[in-house]
Amino acid sequence: MTKVLIIGAGHAGGSAAALLRQYGFEGEIVLAGQETAPPYQRPPLSKAWLKGEAGLEDLLLRPESFYAEQDIALRTGVTATAIDAGARTVTFADGTIEAYDVLILATGSTARKLAIPGADRPDLLELRTLDDAERLKAVVAPGKRLAVVGGGYVGLEAAASARALGAEAVVIERMDRVLARVASQPLSAFFTDLHKKHGVEILTGAEVAGFEEAGVRLADGTLIAADAVLVGVGAVACDDLARTAGLVCGDGVVVDAAARTSNPHIYAIGDVTRRPIPVHGGVMHRLESVPNALEQAKQAASAIVGRAAPAPEVPWFWSDQYDVKLQIAGVPFDADRQLVRGDPAGGAFSVFHLSGERIVAVEAVNAPADFMGGRLLIGKATPVDDALLADPAVSIKAVVKPQV
Ligand SMILES: Cc1cc2nc3c(=O)[nH]c(=O)nc-3n(C[C@H](O)[C@H](O)[C@H](O)COP(=O)(O)OP(=O)(O)OC[C@H]3O[C@@H](n4cnc5c(N)ncnc54)[C@H](O)[C@@H]3O)c2cc1C
Repeated sequence: MTKVLIIGAGHAGGSAAALLRQYGFEGEIVLAGQETAPPYQRPPLSKAWLKGEAGLEDLLLRPESFYAEQDIALRTGVTATAIDAGARTVTFADGTIEAYDVLILATGSTARKLAIPGADRPDLLELRTLDDAERLKAVVAPGKRLAVVGGGYVGLEAAASARALGAEAVVIERMDRVLARVASQPLSAFFTDLHKKHGVEILTGAEVAGFEEAGVRLADGTLIAADAVLVGVGAVACDDLARTAGLVCGDGVVVDAAARTSNPHIYAIGDVTRRPIPVHGGVMHRLESVPNALEQAKQAASAIVGRAAPAPEVPWFWSDQYDVKLQIAGVPFDADRQLVRGDPAGGAFSVFHLSGERIVAVEAVNAPADFMGGRLLIGKATPVDDALLADPAVSIKAVVKPQV
């Protein structure tokens, strides 16, 4: 009987194991991951869990008993060190070896490290795992000052949670705006204002030169004093195992629309992959999001059991900061213009990215109808009318370009 071995017991790996059973797979499933906790959700680590509004049981993807009930052998605290693609085995750091018929790599991504003086200080914090989050939570308290290096989603969410816990927070960003790599200018401006209103200091165009006992030293010599420093400068794919095994990689394990790698017995899913995005003409991209982890878990599980592939999805993502819910659908690869619907000053608006007559992405701030409607229009490549789309009084369902 076929044995599926899944390396990485995170969101993608845990979901793939469950989906295989849900789709009727009756063979052996081994789910092996280096963290000690059963598969859990990372988004609350910078949000509800950090603020103390959610406990460990709320983080778990499924109750711990689920794996035994579903005859899934969950091996936690084990690190895979090598794949022998010829022999179809994986070796672990504890010396054990697991054979497989089908291997799923779901090793995710890891926090990017800075190569600057003091970057190896043991007191520096990052936020990727539950252990990281516990260290961060222990130092964020009233009267403490948290410096966050990197104005991306994780950094900004951590700053918002720090404020909610009564700590001071300063965000240090090297680009000229926060979220510069991942969001439009109107969104950056909105979130900068929002954080400032909540008492977060935002420094942009600020290059970090090093880390010291007293805080963060900027390239211009300024010391940003802090009791704790969180470095949140993006994530890199954990594709070392795949590279060494000879799989085609390039900033992530390269996979097709069914999550197949260049080896016919190996699939890869989640943050570790670079995959085609069908609604964007099949462009290859590395997505770091829960919906992507779930989507590729479905792709791989479907292919393994011989079930029809899931319909092509519109990628999406969300972020929660204070009372603001940001939802993003699509990726603005080939956008030729942006259009703002609603008033950022009113706290609810959307930025639509268009290419010709089509919407290719929408960033919706406290605007769930724009997100839902925009996502549908992206998926169907429906021609839309700019003037109708820009008018918030017109329902998102009614922005379709009249056919002549
Ligand atoms: C703080 C934070 C907040 C986030 N917020 C959001 C959000 O709001 N919305 C959203 O869509 N996404 C969010 N994300 C991103 C989302 O959590 C990831 O995209 C998702 O977890 C990816 O799932 P994955 O299974 O690919 O990787 P992971 O969940 O990272 O799991 C990979 C697992 O593989 C293990 N592993 C790696 N190498 C090995 C090895 N050699 N042997 C054994 N095990 C190994 C790792 O230890 C890890 O447990 C957030 C991420 C973080 C860190």
